[in-house]
Amino acid sequence: MQEHVARDLLCEIGRRAYARRLVSASEGNFSCRLDGSTILLTPTGICKGFMQPHDLVKVSLSGEVLEAGKRASSELPMYLTIYKHRPEVRGVVHAHPVYATAFAITGTPVPNGILPEVEVFLGEVPTAPYALTGTQAFGDVLVPYLAEHQVLLLQNHGALALGPDLFTAYYRMETLDHYCQMLLAARALGELQRLTDAQVQELLDLKARMGLPDRRHAPNSPINKGG
Ligand SMILES: [Zn+2]
Repeated sequence: MQEHVARDLLCEIGRRAYARRLVSASEGNFSCRLDGSTILLTPTGICKGFMQPHDLVKVSLSGEVLEAGKRASSELPMYLTIYKHRPEVRGVVHAHPVYATAFAITGTPVPNGILPEVEVFLGEVPTAPYALTGTQAFGDVLVPYLAEHQVLLLQNHGALALGPDLFTAYYRMETLDHYCQMLLAARALGELQRLTDAQVQELLDLKARMGLPDRRHAPNSPINKGG
């Protein structure tokens, strides 16, 4: 992706994420891959709803900030870990969405087998264990989940979405939070109605025909291992 296009897209995603309350104040961070050796990352200490293209920070995949005087997000180690383990990922969105984070801070699993949209576009959403923000450990705890999942909750913290491009990652974050809001509203009304195994299988077959990876029942999933 051309650098000036990537800078504009990151600013646009910042505006949308702030408007939808996926982040507040200077929370959250987003990035995209520019080429085989560099990424573009949001800066630290700035509200993502008001970023300008020149605010974004170019960083090498070895972690070197390539623009003098700029400070990249403190979550840089997490981004480097993700891009190293998922070479096809080109966009990453980390946010603190109100409804999804409510699940993450209560240890409430995000259920599958409820909504077709979620089955097809998100798959299983595991919760990665807590780690201190801004540390290598914050990236390391994600590693067991990265091979099999596109979207994760982060225990007592927020959520993470990956995609083959920046907007796909962003839309996955939107879908996750929208779904979590629906679940909370539904639970106020009564019990959730689950799709049957046959109906879920139909959706997984549809997903396969669309060429989307089926990671929901992957044998190496930490969820399937009980982790
Ligand atoms: Zn965060």
